Amino acid sequence: MIRFRHLFGVGRELDRQHLAQVQDLFRRAFPYAPAYADQIARWLDKPPPDVEPVLLVAVGPSGTVTGFTWVLTFPDLRCAYLDYIASDPDRPARGIGGALYEATRELLQQKGVRGLFLDVPHDDPARLKDPSRAPLNRRRLDFYARYGALPIVGTLYDRTPTPANEGWMTHLVYDPLGHRGLLRPARARRIVRAIYARKYGLSTKDPLIARVVASFRDDPIALRAPRRVRPEAAAQAPRRRLVPVRVVLSERHRLHHLKERGYVERPVRIDAVLKGLDGLAVEITKPRHFGETPIRAVHKAALLGYLARASARLSQKALIYPTVFPLRRRRRPPRAFEMRAGYYCIDTFTPLAHNSYVAARAAVDCALTGALLIEAGERFVYALCRPPGHHAEPDAWGGFCYFNNAAVAAHRLSRHGRVAVLDIDHHHGNGTQEIFYRRADVLTVSIHGHPDHAYPYFTGFADERGADAGKGFNRNFPLFPGADDALYLKTLDEALRHITRFRPAHLVVSLGYDIMKGDPTGTFVVSATGMRRIGERIGALRLPTLLVQEGGYSLGNLRAGSRAFVTGLSGTW
Ligand SMILES: [Zn+2]
Repeated sequence: MIRFRHLFGVGRELDRQHLAQVQDLFRRAFPYAPAYADQIARWLDKPPPDVEPVLLVAVGPSGTVTGFTWVLTFPDLRCAYLDYIASDPDRPARGIGGALYEATRELLQQKGVRGLFLDVPHDDPARLKDPSRAPLNRRRLDFYARYGALPIVGTLYDRTPTPANEGWMTHLVYDPLGHRGLLRPARARRIVRAIYARKYGLSTKDPLIARVVASFRDDPIALRAPRRVRPEAAAQAPRRRLVPVRVVLSERHRLHHLKERGYVERPVRIDAVLKGLDGLAVEITKPRHFGETPIRAVHKAALLGYLARASARLSQKALIYPTVFPLRRRRRPPRAFEMRAGYYCIDTFTPLAHNSYVAARAAVDCALTGALLIEAGERFVYALCRPPGHHAEPDAWGGFCYFNNAAVAAHRLSRHGRVAVLDIDHHHGNGTQEIFYRRADVLTVSIHGHPDHAYPYFTGFADERGADAGKGFNRNFPLFPGADDALYLKTLDEALRHITRFRPAHLVVSLGYDIMKGDPTGTFVVSATGMRRIGERIGALRLPTLLVQEGGYSLGNLRAGSRAFVTGLSGTW
Protein backbone atom coordinates (compact mmCIF):
# COMPACT_ATOMS: atom_id res chain seq x y z
CA MET A 1 0.00 0.00 0.00
CA ILE A 2 1.43 3.36 -1.02
CA ARG A 3 0.71 6.48 0.95
CA PHE A 4 1.16 9.91 -0.51
CA ARG A 5 2.57 12.74 1.51
CA HIS A 6 2.69 16.34 0.51
CA LEU A 7 6.07 17.40 1.80
CA PHE A 8 5.50 21.08 2.43
CA GLY A 9 8.51 21.92 4.55
CA VAL A 10 11.40 20.39 6.42
CA GLY A 11 10.46 21.40 9.95
CA ARG A 12 10.16 17.84 11.16
CA GLU A 13 12.66 15.02 11.35
CA LEU A 14 10.48 12.80 9.18
CA ASP A 15 10.23 15.54 6.54
CA ARG A 16 14.01 15.88 6.47
CA GLN A 17 14.41 12.12 6.09
CA HIS A 18 11.93 11.98 3.24
CA LEU A 19 13.53 14.93 1.49
CA ALA A 20 16.94 13.25 1.73
CA GLN A 21 15.44 10.12 0.18
CA VAL A 22 13.85 12.17 -2.60
CA GLN A 23 17.21 13.77 -3.36
CA ASP A 24 18.93 10.40 -3.40
CA LEU A 25 16.26 8.98 -5.69
CA PHE A 26 16.53 12.07 -7.91
CA ARG A 27 20.28 11.65 -8.36
CA ARG A 28 19.85 8.02 -9.34
CA ALA A 29 16.92 8.69 -11.69
CA PHE A 30 18.44 11.79 -13.32
CA PRO A 31 22.22 11.26 -13.08
CA TYR A 32 22.80 13.99 -15.70
CA ALA A 33 21.42 16.74 -13.44
CA PRO A 34 22.57 15.95 -9.90
CA ALA A 35 22.74 19.61 -8.82
CA TYR A 36 19.03 20.00 -9.27
CA ALA A 37 18.47 17.79 -6.21
CA ASP A 38 19.84 20.64 -4.11
CA GLN A 39 17.65 23.15 -5.86
CA ILE A 40 14.57 21.14 -4.85
CA ALA A 41 15.62 21.48 -1.21
CA ARG A 42 16.36 25.18 -1.62
CA TRP A 43 13.09 25.98 -3.36
CA LEU A 44 11.12 23.95 -0.86
CA ASP A 45 12.59 26.11 1.89
CA LYS A 46 12.46 29.39 0.00
CA PRO A 47 10.43 29.33 -3.21
CA PRO A 48 11.13 31.93 -5.91
CA PRO A 49 8.53 34.68 -6.36
CA ASP A 50 5.14 33.56 -7.70
CA VAL A 51 6.02 29.89 -7.41
CA GLU A 52 4.48 27.51 -4.92
CA PRO A 53 6.34 24.23 -5.19
CA VAL A 54 4.62 20.94 -4.43
CA LEU A 55 6.66 17.90 -3.50
CA LEU A 56 4.42 14.87 -3.42
CA VAL A 57 6.12 11.72 -2.20
CA ALA A 58 4.96 8.13 -2.46
CA VAL A 59 5.88 6.20 0.65
CA GLY A 60 5.98 2.41 0.50
CA PRO A 61 4.95 0.02 3.25
CA SER A 62 8.38 0.03 4.87
CA GLY A 63 8.29 3.81 5.13
CA THR A 64 10.76 4.48 2.33
CA VAL A 65 10.17 6.92 -0.48
CA THR A 66 9.41 4.98 -3.68
CA GLY A 67 8.70 7.92 -5.96
CA PHE A 68 7.91 11.59 -6.10
CA THR A 69 6.62 14.42 -8.21
CA TRP A 70 8.01 17.92 -8.08
CA VAL A 71 5.56 20.47 -9.37
CA LEU A 72 5.86 24.23 -9.63
CA THR A 73 2.46 25.80 -9.22
CA PHE A 74 1.86 29.37 -10.34
CA PRO A 75 -1.03 30.43 -8.09
CA ASP A 76 -1.63 33.74 -9.90
CA LEU A 77 -2.23 31.84 -13.14
CA ARG A 78 -4.01 28.88 -11.52
CA CYS A 79 -1.75 26.54 -13.42
CA ALA A 80 1.16 24.26 -12.68
CA TYR A 81 4.29 22.93 -14.34
CA LEU A 82 5.25 19.32 -13.67
CA ASP A 83 9.00 19.57 -13.36
CA TYR A 84 9.95 16.02 -12.39
CA ILE A 85 8.16 12.75 -11.81
CA ALA A 86 10.20 9.71 -10.87
CA SER A 87 9.96 6.33 -9.25
CA ASP A 88 12.90 4.50 -7.73
CA PRO A 89 14.95 3.23 -10.70
CA ASP A 90 16.56 0.52 -8.58
CA ARG A 91 13.30 -0.82 -7.21
CA PRO A 92 10.84 -0.65 -10.06
CA ALA A 93 7.29 -1.19 -8.91
CA ARG A 94 4.36 -1.71 -11.24
CA GLY A 95 1.90 1.08 -11.50
CA ILE A 96 3.77 3.57 -9.37
CA GLY A 97 4.14 6.07 -12.21
CA GLY A 98 0.41 6.03 -12.83
CA ALA A 99 -0.40 6.26 -9.16
CA LEU A 100 1.95 9.22 -8.77
CA TYR A 101 0.54 11.06 -11.73
CA GLU A 102 -3.04 10.44 -10.61
CA ALA A 103 -2.26 11.60 -7.10
CA THR A 104 -0.60 14.72 -8.49
CA ARG A 105 -3.62 15.54 -10.63
CA GLU A 106 -5.88 15.01 -7.66
CA LEU A 107 -3.79 17.27 -5.46
CA LEU A 108 -3.74 20.00 -8.08
CA GLN A 109 -7.48 19.71 -8.59
CA GLN A 110 -7.93 20.12 -4.85
CA LYS A 111 -5.83 23.24 -5.03
CA GLY A 112 -8.06 24.69 -7.72
CA VAL A 113 -5.38 24.44 -10.43
CA ARG A 114 -6.95 24.48 -13.90
CA GLY A 115 -4.15 23.29 -16.12
CA LEU A 116 -0.97 21.23 -15.76
CA PHE A 117 1.90 21.65 -18.23
CA LEU A 118 4.90 19.41 -18.70
CA ASP A 119 7.73 18.82 -21.12
CA VAL A 120 7.85 15.38 -22.69
CA PRO A 121 10.68 14.49 -25.09
CA HIS A 122 9.78 14.45 -28.76
CA ASP A 123 8.68 11.23 -30.41
CA ASP A 124 9.77 12.32 -33.87
CA PRO A 125 13.20 10.68 -34.45
CA ALA A 126 14.14 13.54 -36.78
CA ARG A 127 14.01 15.99 -33.87
CA LEU A 128 15.95 13.88 -31.40
CA LYS A 129 19.64 14.08 -30.60
CA ASP A 130 19.38 10.33 -30.04
CA PRO A 131 16.75 8.96 -32.47
CA SER A 132 16.80 5.56 -30.78
CA ARG A 133 14.87 7.10 -27.90
CA ALA A 134 11.80 7.77 -30.04
CA PRO A 135 9.92 4.59 -29.04
CA LEU A 136 10.46 5.31 -25.34
CA ASN A 137 9.23 8.85 -25.81
CA ARG A 138 6.21 7.58 -27.70
CA ARG A 139 5.31 5.40 -24.72
CA ARG A 140 5.67 8.40 -22.46
CA LEU A 141 3.36 10.49 -24.58
CA ASP A 142 0.87 7.61 -24.66
CA PHE A 143 1.01 7.43 -20.87
CA TYR A 144 -0.05 11.05 -20.52
CA ALA A 145 -2.54 10.86 -23.38
CA ARG A 146 -4.54 8.35 -21.34
CA TYR A 147 -5.25 11.17 -18.91
CA GLY A 148 -6.21 13.54 -21.66
CA ALA A 149 -2.83 15.28 -21.47
CA LEU A 150 -1.85 16.04 -25.08
CA PRO A 151 1.04 17.82 -26.82
CA ILE A 152 0.44 21.37 -27.95
CA VAL A 153 1.05 21.65 -31.68
CA GLY A 154 1.38 24.44 -34.20
CA THR A 155 3.90 26.48 -32.22
CA LEU A 156 7.66 26.94 -32.27
CA TYR A 157 7.97 25.45 -28.80
CA ASP A 158 8.70 21.88 -29.89
CA ARG A 159 11.09 22.78 -32.68
CA THR A 160 13.25 25.60 -31.34
CA PRO A 161 16.49 25.03 -29.44
CA THR A 162 16.50 27.41 -26.50
CA PRO A 163 18.62 27.81 -23.35
CA ALA A 164 15.72 26.06 -21.61
CA ASN A 165 15.80 22.82 -23.56
CA GLU A 166 19.49 22.99 -24.50
CA GLY A 167 18.62 21.44 -27.82
CA TRP A 168 16.72 18.48 -26.38
CA MET A 169 13.42 18.95 -28.17
CA THR A 170 10.35 18.43 -26.11
CA HIS A 171 6.62 18.74 -26.55
CA LEU A 172 4.78 21.01 -24.20
CA VAL A 173 1.99 18.75 -22.99
CA TYR A 174 -1.19 20.22 -21.60
CA ASP A 175 -3.39 18.39 -19.09
CA PRO A 176 -6.62 20.32 -18.51
CA LEU A 177 -7.14 18.33 -15.29
CA GLY A 178 -10.67 17.48 -16.28
CA HIS A 179 -11.72 21.03 -17.07
CA ARG A 180 -13.65 21.40 -20.27
CA GLY A 181 -12.70 24.93 -21.25
CA LEU A 182 -10.40 25.36 -24.24
CA LEU A 183 -6.93 26.80 -23.87
CA ARG A 184 -6.93 30.32 -25.25
CA PRO A 185 -3.76 31.78 -26.79
CA ALA A 186 -3.50 34.76 -24.40
CA ARG A 187 -3.55 32.44 -21.39
CA ALA A 188 -1.16 30.02 -23.07
CA ARG A 189 1.33 32.84 -23.71
CA ARG A 190 1.16 34.01 -20.10
CA ILE A 191 1.81 30.49 -18.90
CA VAL A 192 4.68 29.78 -21.31
CA ARG A 193 6.24 33.09 -20.31
CA ALA A 194 5.92 32.06 -16.66
CA ILE A 195 7.56 28.70 -17.33
CA TYR A 196 10.54 30.34 -19.02
CA ALA A 197 10.89 33.06 -16.41
CA ARG A 198 10.08 31.25 -13.17
CA LYS A 199 11.42 27.77 -13.86
CA TYR A 200 14.42 28.67 -16.03
CA GLY A 201 15.05 32.24 -14.95
CA LEU A 202 15.08 33.36 -18.60
CA SER A 203 14.16 36.83 -19.71
CA THR A 204 11.02 36.80 -21.80
CA LYS A 205 12.37 39.90 -23.53
CA ASP A 206 15.04 37.73 -25.14
CA PRO A 207 14.09 37.78 -28.84
CA LEU A 208 14.28 34.00 -29.19
CA ILE A 209 12.05 33.35 -26.17
CA ALA A 210 9.69 36.12 -27.23
CA ARG A 211 9.37 34.50 -30.65
CA VAL A 212 8.48 31.14 -29.16
CA VAL A 213 5.95 32.73 -26.82
CA ALA A 214 4.39 34.68 -29.65
CA SER A 215 3.95 31.51 -31.69
CA PHE A 216 1.09 30.41 -29.39
CA ARG A 217 -1.46 31.94 -31.71
CA ASP A 218 -4.10 29.32 -32.53
CA ASP A 219 -7.44 29.97 -30.92
CA PRO A 220 -8.04 27.65 -29.24
CA ILE A 221 -4.54 26.31 -28.86
CA ALA A 222 -4.31 23.15 -30.97
CA LEU A 223 -3.60 19.83 -29.32
CA ARG A 224 -2.35 16.75 -31.12
CA ALA A 225 -5.01 14.05 -31.28
CA PRO A 226 -4.06 10.94 -29.34
CA ARG A 227 -2.50 8.49 -31.76
CA ARG A 228 -2.39 5.11 -30.14
CA VAL A 229 -4.49 5.30 -27.00
CA ARG A 230 -7.93 6.50 -26.11
CA PRO A 231 -8.05 8.99 -23.28
CA GLU A 232 -10.00 7.27 -20.53
CA ALA A 233 -12.83 9.53 -19.62
CA ALA A 234 -9.99 11.93 -19.00
CA ALA A 235 -11.61 13.81 -16.22
CA GLN A 236 -12.44 10.79 -14.12
CA ALA A 237 -13.74 11.41 -10.68
CA PRO A 238 -10.89 11.79 -8.22
CA ARG A 239 -9.62 8.46 -6.99
CA ARG A 240 -9.11 9.48 -3.42
CA ARG A 241 -5.51 8.39 -3.33
CA LEU A 242 -4.90 11.47 -1.27
CA VAL A 243 -6.14 11.92 2.21
CA PRO A 244 -5.34 15.47 3.26
CA VAL A 245 -7.22 15.14 6.53
CA ARG A 246 -7.19 12.18 8.88
CA VAL A 247 -10.08 12.07 11.32
CA VAL A 248 -9.92 10.40 14.73
CA LEU A 249 -13.19 9.28 16.23
CA SER A 250 -14.17 7.11 19.17
CA GLU A 251 -17.67 5.68 19.38
CA ARG A 252 -17.38 5.98 23.13
CA HIS A 253 -18.51 9.57 22.98
CA ARG A 254 -22.04 8.18 22.68
CA LEU A 255 -21.85 6.92 26.25
CA HIS A 256 -21.95 10.52 27.35
CA HIS A 257 -25.55 11.35 26.62
CA LEU A 258 -27.39 13.58 29.07
CA LYS A 259 -30.99 13.42 28.12
CA GLU A 260 -31.77 16.65 29.91
CA ARG A 261 -33.94 19.13 28.09
CA GLY A 262 -31.86 21.88 26.63
CA TYR A 263 -28.54 20.07 27.10
CA VAL A 264 -27.19 20.96 23.68
CA GLU A 265 -23.92 19.04 23.95
CA ARG A 266 -25.33 15.84 22.44
CA PRO A 267 -23.92 12.81 20.56
CA VAL A 268 -25.80 13.81 17.41
CA ARG A 269 -23.38 16.75 17.09
CA ILE A 270 -20.66 14.34 15.99
CA ASP A 271 -23.04 12.68 13.51
CA ALA A 272 -23.69 16.12 12.03
CA VAL A 273 -19.96 16.73 11.56
CA LEU A 274 -19.55 13.30 9.94
CA LYS A 275 -22.37 14.14 7.56
CA GLY A 276 -20.56 17.35 6.71
CA LEU A 277 -17.37 15.43 5.93
CA ASP A 278 -19.19 12.82 3.85
CA GLY A 279 -17.66 12.61 0.38
CA LEU A 280 -14.60 14.70 1.27
CA ALA A 281 -11.14 13.16 1.09
CA VAL A 282 -10.86 12.19 4.74
CA GLU A 283 -10.03 8.90 6.40
CA ILE A 284 -11.47 7.94 9.77
CA THR A 285 -9.25 6.25 12.33
CA LYS A 286 -10.05 4.85 15.76
CA PRO A 287 -8.02 6.18 18.67
CA ARG A 288 -5.40 4.27 20.58
CA HIS A 289 -5.77 4.08 24.31
CA PHE A 290 -3.49 6.07 26.54
CA GLY A 291 -3.08 5.90 30.28
CA GLU A 292 -3.62 8.68 32.77
CA THR A 293 -0.07 10.00 32.58
CA PRO A 294 -0.62 12.43 29.69
CA ILE A 295 -3.72 13.80 31.42
CA ARG A 296 -1.82 14.29 34.67
CA ALA A 297 0.66 16.41 32.76
CA VAL A 298 -1.96 19.18 32.49
CA HIS A 299 -4.58 18.33 35.14
CA LYS A 300 -4.28 17.90 38.90
CA ALA A 301 -4.43 14.31 40.07
CA ALA A 302 -7.22 15.25 42.49
CA LEU A 303 -9.53 16.33 39.66
CA LEU A 304 -8.77 13.18 37.71
CA GLY A 305 -9.38 11.04 40.79
CA TYR A 306 -12.63 12.76 41.64
CA LEU A 307 -14.05 12.46 38.13
CA ALA A 308 -13.10 8.77 37.96
CA ARG A 309 -14.48 7.85 41.37
CA ALA A 310 -17.61 9.99 41.30
CA SER A 311 -18.60 8.77 37.83
CA ALA A 312 -18.12 5.19 38.90
CA ARG A 313 -20.28 5.68 42.00
CA LEU A 314 -23.19 7.11 40.07
CA SER A 315 -25.97 4.86 38.87
CA GLN A 316 -26.80 4.84 35.13
CA LYS A 317 -29.49 7.47 35.47
CA ALA A 318 -28.10 9.67 38.24
CA LEU A 319 -26.56 13.06 37.53
CA ILE A 320 -24.63 15.34 39.81
CA TYR A 321 -25.17 19.02 39.17
CA PRO A 322 -22.74 21.06 41.25
CA THR A 323 -24.63 23.20 43.74
CA VAL A 324 -22.15 24.15 46.45
CA PHE A 325 -18.99 26.06 45.55
CA PRO A 326 -16.42 26.29 48.37
CA LEU A 327 -14.78 29.23 46.65
CA ARG A 328 -13.02 30.84 49.57
CA ARG A 329 -12.44 27.64 51.52
CA ARG A 330 -10.43 25.80 48.94
CA ARG A 331 -8.30 24.01 51.51
CA ARG A 332 -10.96 21.53 52.48
CA PRO A 333 -13.07 19.75 49.84
CA PRO A 334 -16.54 18.81 51.09
CA ARG A 335 -16.69 15.23 52.38
CA ALA A 336 -19.99 14.36 50.70
CA PHE A 337 -19.00 13.35 47.20
CA GLU A 338 -22.05 14.90 45.52
CA MET A 339 -21.30 18.21 47.23
CA ARG A 340 -17.66 17.99 46.30
CA ALA A 341 -18.63 18.49 42.64
CA GLY A 342 -18.71 22.24 43.17
CA TYR A 343 -15.14 22.11 44.46
CA TYR A 344 -14.01 20.94 41.02
CA CYS A 345 -16.49 22.61 38.69
CA ILE A 346 -16.79 26.19 37.45
CA ASP A 347 -20.50 26.32 36.61
CA THR A 348 -23.86 24.76 37.36
CA PHE A 349 -24.72 23.34 33.97
CA THR A 350 -22.06 20.69 33.40
CA PRO A 351 -23.28 17.66 35.29
CA LEU A 352 -21.41 14.51 36.03
CA ALA A 353 -22.95 11.24 34.89
CA HIS A 354 -22.02 7.59 35.13
CA ASN A 355 -20.21 7.58 31.78
CA SER A 356 -18.80 11.08 31.78
CA TYR A 357 -15.36 9.93 32.84
CA VAL A 358 -15.15 7.08 30.29
CA ALA A 359 -16.27 9.36 27.48
CA ALA A 360 -13.94 12.16 28.56
CA ARG A 361 -11.01 9.72 28.59
CA ALA A 362 -11.94 8.57 25.08
CA ALA A 363 -11.99 12.19 23.91
CA VAL A 364 -8.46 12.65 25.27
CA ASP A 365 -7.46 9.44 23.46
CA CYS A 366 -8.74 10.95 20.20
CA ALA A 367 -6.69 14.12 20.67
CA LEU A 368 -3.57 12.16 21.65
CA THR A 369 -3.94 9.77 18.72
CA GLY A 370 -4.20 12.85 16.54
CA ALA A 371 -0.94 14.13 18.02
CA LEU A 372 0.68 10.76 17.30
CA LEU A 373 -0.47 10.86 13.66
CA ILE A 374 0.97 14.35 13.36
CA GLU A 375 4.24 13.07 14.79
CA ALA A 376 4.14 10.27 12.21
CA GLY A 377 4.07 12.86 9.43
CA GLU A 378 0.42 13.72 8.78
CA ARG A 379 -0.18 17.36 8.06
CA PHE A 380 -3.83 17.75 9.09
CA VAL A 381 -5.55 15.61 11.68
CA TYR A 382 -9.03 16.30 12.96
CA ALA A 383 -9.75 14.80 16.39
CA LEU A 384 -13.52 14.59 16.71
CA CYS A 385 -13.45 14.96 20.47
CA ARG A 386 -16.61 14.80 22.48
CA PRO A 387 -17.13 15.91 25.23
CA PRO A 388 -15.19 19.05 24.32
CA GLY A 389 -12.28 20.24 26.44
CA HIS A 390 -11.11 23.85 26.29
CA HIS A 391 -12.97 25.04 29.40
CA ALA A 392 -11.37 22.34 31.58
CA GLU A 393 -8.72 23.91 33.84
CA PRO A 394 -5.89 22.17 35.66
CA ASP A 395 -8.16 21.48 38.63
CA ALA A 396 -11.69 22.17 37.45
CA TRP A 397 -14.19 21.03 34.84
CA GLY A 398 -17.09 22.97 33.34
CA GLY A 399 -18.60 24.40 30.17
CA PHE A 400 -19.50 20.86 28.96
CA CYS A 401 -15.78 19.99 29.29
CA TYR A 402 -14.08 17.51 31.66
CA PHE A 403 -10.53 17.09 30.39
CA ASN A 404 -8.77 19.56 28.16
CA ASN A 405 -8.22 17.47 25.04
CA ALA A 406 -6.41 20.18 23.12
CA ALA A 407 -4.09 20.99 26.02
CA VAL A 408 -3.17 17.35 26.59
CA ALA A 409 -2.27 17.03 22.91
CA ALA A 410 -0.46 20.37 22.77
CA HIS A 411 1.60 19.41 25.81
CA ARG A 412 2.57 16.15 24.14
CA LEU A 413 3.57 17.92 20.92
CA SER A 414 5.60 20.45 22.90
CA ARG A 415 8.33 17.84 23.35
CA HIS A 416 9.20 18.44 19.66
CA GLY A 417 9.46 22.23 19.90
CA ARG A 418 7.16 25.21 20.19
CA VAL A 419 3.44 24.71 19.90
CA ALA A 420 0.82 27.33 19.09
CA VAL A 421 -2.75 26.76 20.20
CA LEU A 422 -5.35 28.72 18.26
CA ASP A 423 -8.81 28.65 19.81
CA ILE A 424 -11.57 29.69 17.42
CA ASP A 425 -14.51 28.43 19.47
CA HIS A 426 -17.01 31.17 20.29
CA HIS A 427 -16.22 30.89 23.99
CA HIS A 428 -12.94 31.77 25.58
CA GLY A 429 -10.82 28.68 26.31
CA ASN A 430 -10.20 29.57 29.93
CA GLY A 431 -8.84 26.08 30.63
CA THR A 432 -6.26 26.13 27.86
CA GLN A 433 -5.19 29.65 28.82
CA GLU A 434 -4.76 28.68 32.46
CA ILE A 435 -2.83 25.49 31.68
CA PHE A 436 -0.22 27.28 29.57
CA TYR A 437 -0.34 30.73 31.18
CA ARG A 438 3.16 30.51 32.60
CA ARG A 439 4.82 28.75 29.69
CA ALA A 440 6.79 30.34 26.88
CA ASP A 441 6.98 27.19 24.76
CA VAL A 442 3.23 27.04 24.13
CA LEU A 443 1.61 30.15 22.68
CA THR A 444 -2.13 30.39 23.29
CA VAL A 445 -4.18 32.62 21.00
CA SER A 446 -7.95 32.88 21.20
CA ILE A 447 -10.68 34.73 19.30
CA HIS A 448 -13.99 34.65 21.15
CA GLY A 449 -17.08 36.45 22.36
CA HIS A 450 -16.15 39.29 24.69
CA PRO A 451 -16.42 38.08 28.29
CA ASP A 452 -18.72 41.02 29.03
CA HIS A 453 -21.27 39.12 26.96
CA ALA A 454 -20.15 35.53 26.66
CA TYR A 455 -19.32 32.47 28.72
CA PRO A 456 -17.16 32.01 30.76
CA TYR A 457 -17.46 35.74 31.66
CA PHE A 458 -14.42 35.73 33.95
CA THR A 459 -11.58 35.26 31.44
CA GLY A 460 -10.79 36.13 27.87
CA PHE A 461 -10.01 39.83 28.26
CA ALA A 462 -7.41 41.33 25.98
CA ASP A 463 -5.10 42.28 28.84
CA GLU A 464 -4.53 38.66 29.88
CA ARG A 465 -1.11 38.24 28.30
CA GLY A 466 0.51 35.43 30.32
CA ALA A 467 2.60 35.50 33.47
CA ASP A 468 6.16 34.78 34.61
CA ALA A 469 8.07 32.99 31.85
CA GLY A 470 4.83 32.91 29.87
CA LYS A 471 4.47 36.67 29.78
CA GLY A 472 3.59 37.69 26.24
CA PHE A 473 2.65 34.16 25.21
CA ASN A 474 -1.11 34.44 25.64
CA ARG A 475 -3.21 36.59 23.33
CA ASN A 476 -6.94 37.19 23.50
CA PHE A 477 -9.05 38.75 20.77
CA PRO A 478 -12.47 39.34 22.28
CA LEU A 479 -15.17 40.39 19.80
CA PHE A 480 -18.59 41.84 20.46
CA PRO A 481 -21.86 40.22 19.37
CA GLY A 482 -22.60 40.36 15.67
CA ALA A 483 -19.04 39.70 14.46
CA ASP A 484 -19.36 38.81 10.77
CA ASP A 485 -17.08 37.17 8.22
CA ALA A 486 -15.20 40.37 7.44
CA LEU A 487 -14.45 41.29 11.05
CA TYR A 488 -13.72 37.71 12.02
CA LEU A 489 -11.26 37.15 9.18
CA LYS A 490 -9.52 40.45 9.86
CA THR A 491 -9.11 39.45 13.50
CA LEU A 492 -7.99 35.98 12.48
CA ASP A 493 -5.29 37.47 10.24
CA GLU A 494 -3.96 39.41 13.20
CA ALA A 495 -4.05 36.33 15.41
CA LEU A 496 -2.24 34.31 12.74
CA ARG A 497 0.48 36.95 12.50
CA HIS A 498 1.26 36.32 16.18
CA ILE A 499 1.44 32.62 15.48
CA THR A 500 3.72 33.09 12.46
CA ARG A 501 6.08 35.29 14.45
CA PHE A 502 6.25 32.64 17.18
CA ARG A 503 7.53 30.11 14.60
CA PRO A 504 5.89 27.05 16.13
CA ALA A 505 6.73 23.51 15.06
CA HIS A 506 3.10 22.48 15.50
CA LEU A 507 -0.32 24.08 15.59
CA VAL A 508 -3.28 22.88 17.63
CA VAL A 509 -6.64 24.40 16.74
CA SER A 510 -9.56 24.32 19.17
CA LEU A 511 -12.31 24.26 16.58
CA GLY A 512 -15.82 25.42 17.44
CA TYR A 513 -18.66 25.96 15.00
CA ASP A 514 -20.53 28.07 17.56
CA ILE A 515 -19.11 31.20 15.88
CA MET A 516 -21.55 30.58 13.03
CA LYS A 517 -24.80 32.47 12.61
CA GLY A 518 -27.66 30.87 14.53
CA ASP A 519 -25.73 28.96 17.16
CA PRO A 520 -27.86 28.73 20.31
CA THR A 521 -24.85 29.57 22.52
CA GLY A 522 -23.10 32.12 20.31
CA THR A 523 -23.60 35.66 19.07
CA PHE A 524 -21.41 35.83 15.96
CA VAL A 525 -22.73 35.56 12.41
CA VAL A 526 -19.91 33.78 10.58
CA SER A 527 -21.16 32.02 7.42
CA ALA A 528 -20.16 28.72 5.84
CA THR A 529 -18.09 30.68 3.33
CA GLY A 530 -16.40 32.33 6.30
CA MET A 531 -15.60 28.91 7.72
CA ARG A 532 -14.03 27.90 4.42
CA ARG A 533 -11.88 31.02 4.44
CA ILE A 534 -10.84 30.27 8.03
CA GLY A 535 -9.80 26.77 6.92
CA GLU A 536 -7.83 28.23 4.00
CA ARG A 537 -6.01 30.71 6.19
CA ILE A 538 -5.11 28.14 8.82
CA GLY A 539 -3.86 25.77 6.11
CA ALA A 540 -1.84 28.55 4.54
CA LEU A 541 0.36 28.65 7.66
CA ARG A 542 1.95 25.45 6.29
CA LEU A 543 2.16 23.90 9.75
CA PRO A 544 1.43 20.38 10.89
CA THR A 545 -1.98 21.02 12.38
CA LEU A 546 -4.11 19.12 14.86
CA LEU A 547 -7.74 20.19 14.92
CA VAL A 548 -9.59 19.42 18.12
CA GLN A 549 -13.36 19.56 18.15
CA GLU A 550 -14.79 21.92 20.74
CA GLY A 551 -18.24 23.51 20.54
CA GLY A 552 -20.94 24.18 17.97
CA TYR A 553 -24.50 23.36 18.83
CA SER A 554 -26.57 24.00 15.72
CA LEU A 555 -26.67 20.72 13.80
CA GLY A 556 -27.03 22.52 10.49
CA ASN A 557 -23.96 24.63 11.26
CA LEU A 558 -21.96 21.61 12.40
CA ARG A 559 -22.70 19.99 9.05
CA ALA A 560 -22.17 22.99 6.78
CA GLY A 561 -19.34 24.43 8.89
CA SER A 562 -17.26 21.25 9.03
CA ARG A 563 -17.70 20.69 5.31
CA ALA A 564 -16.67 24.24 4.48
CA PHE A 565 -13.78 24.36 6.94
CA VAL A 566 -12.27 21.02 5.88
CA THR A 567 -12.72 21.90 2.20
CA GLY A 568 -10.84 25.14 2.73
CA LEU A 569 -8.12 23.40 4.72
CA SER A 570 -7.73 20.52 2.22
CA GLY A 571 -7.24 22.98 -0.61
CA THR A 572 -3.97 24.05 1.03
CA TRP A 573 -2.67 20.50 1.50
ZN1 LIG B 1 -18.04 27.21 22.61
